[in-house]
Amino acid sequence: MHLARFPRVRLAHLPTPLEPAPRLSDALRVDVWIKRDDCTGLAGGGNKTRKLEFLLGAALEAGADTLVTQGATQSNHVRQTAAAAAAHGLACEIILEDRTGFTSADYVENGNVLLDRLFGAAIRTVPGGSDMTAELEITAEAVRARGGNPYVIPGGGSNPVGALGYVDCAREIVTQADEMDLQIDRIITATGSAGTHAGLVAGLAVMGADIPVLGIGVRAPKPKQEENVLKLARETAALLGRPDAVTPEMVVADCDYVGEGYGFIDDKVIEALTLAARSEGLLLDPVYSAKAMKGLIALSRQGRFADETVVFLHTGGAQGLAGYQSQLTGALDHPRA
Ligand SMILES: *Cc1c(COP(=O)(O)O)cnc(C)c1O
Repeated sequence: MHLARFPRVRLAHLPTPLEPAPRLSDALRVDVWIKRDDCTGLAGGGNKTRKLEFLLGAALEAGADTLVTQGATQSNHVRQTAAAAAAHGLACEIILEDRTGFTSADYVENGNVLLDRLFGAAIRTVPGGSDMTAELEITAEAVRARGGNPYVIPGGGSNPVGALGYVDCAREIVTQADEMDLQIDRIITATGSAGTHAGLVAGLAVMGADIPVLGIGVRAPKPKQEENVLKLARETAALLGRPDAVTPEMVVADCDYVGEGYGFIDDKVIEALTLAARSEGLLLDPVYSAKAMKGLIALSRQGRFADETVVFLHTGGAQGLAGYQSQLTGALDHPRA
């Protein structure tokens, strides 16, 4: 694999640190290391920065003047896309899907939504369950009608081009671990629109690193999530010239920690947020990284990772915390960690 063959715009602060988490490890009785992709930079950082390097590269190569994308109301992907567009003088049109039905002022106006506006993106809101692919095309067509040249980025930046960002992250993790003589038994990540998980799997497979990846689902049930990740991982490996590198056994998702649904939080999510904050000073987010941590906590307590060295990919998202103020404030008064 040779990533320099793909157009890329440098946006991220790389490499992100791979750090031990001694107090969290003690609490979980598992050797946990954190891959700090909350520190990628670009509007506060997070996993979408790496994908956007390749997506923006492709957009600029196509001569685009407008980025068009979509996400849930508190989407981190949308916030980071709006920032990337601003930083490169492109317009940004975003469509926000009301997936949760939450109507509190913090959820609909604060957190990532406030930042989207700050970056100057044009926002259109649609009901939950809308056909978001069709909505993207409607907006792209409107941009064309006024003489613009749109570049459409799918939700989460999750297509083979975006997933190259996590192929690169897989390479980065293995390089860091080799330099530290750190033997990694497993990588754990939140898995949603699948590009992060698929890129990691494809990158590790193409490298022949033989490190299992466990995705903790945040939305879809396990069969659907694994199908989405496998398809995208295969397409990504094909883009790298290795169409047969990814096998179905490489794709494992555990979707038992979604709770009531995408974007909904519960006591265990709050426990995960507070444990990370109070043991390591780490900011997780309510929608993704704390759900992944909820899974890591539960599985650790079941003894699943005994004697393992686990790398928890911190995908960022803390900018969404302010969107959950009304749901979190009361719950934080009780020490949990
Ligand atoms: C988008 C996102 C994820 C999930 O990544 P996918 O590539 O969509 O699966 C995880 N964590 C955060 C903070 C995110 O914003």
